[in-house]
Amino acid sequence: MKVVLLGPPGAGKGSLAGVLKEKYHLAHISTGDMLREEIKKGTPLGVEIKSLIAKGALVSDELVTKLVEQRFMQDADLKKGYMLDGFPRTVKQAQDLDVLLAKAGAPLDFALNMEADGGLILKRLTGRRVCRKCGALFHVTNKPSLKAGVCDLCGGELYQRTDDNEETIKARMQVYQTSTQPIIDYYAKQRKLKKLDGNLETADLAQALSVMLK
Ligand SMILES: [Zn+2]
Repeated sequence: MKVVLLGPPGAGKGSLAGVLKEKYHLAHISTGDMLREEIKKGTPLGVEIKSLIAKGALVSDELVTKLVEQRFMQDADLKKGYMLDGFPRTVKQAQDLDVLLAKAGAPLDFALNMEADGGLILKRLTGRRVCRKCGALFHVTNKPSLKAGVCDLCGGELYQRTDDNEETIKARMQVYQTSTQPIIDYYAKQRKLKKLDGNLETADLAQALSVMLK
């Protein structure tokens, strides 16, 4: 299975990626992780990215596309299956992606769009708590720690990320909606768009996915 994952923060994309990795053994290609990896390895591209970020500039669409292309050209295993996460972010990138995937002999099967109720997304994100020491994730109602405010794994202090507040989340959802709709339309036109209910919890999500793939 070769897929692109779409969906706003909090719609359950992370849970879906987990299911796809475990049950379908798909390689997870996250452009965010790839950027961090390039910087860490100090490749020429990594050095370029680091200096851009240091200047406060955005990493260009072209550069991210180049990075994705490089990955597909180097890793023949991706022909067996992959999930792209965080890419494409624009229609131009989606078009470039089609071209580079054809070149790599690993064309896309479909785009999976996760949709969830705004209210549920808010609840998921505002309830999120992160361990200051080990980065473990908890949730005040869905996955509470044994002792309030204390990490089960390392005893570190749990805190709420500053951007996990209602106002910021609503703004992020708005930005996401506006920027992603053209990409959703692009895949719909190609008849490659599939929708998954992001309101489902992980176990039900796995079930819904296997039904959809039949
Ligand atoms: Zn911890």
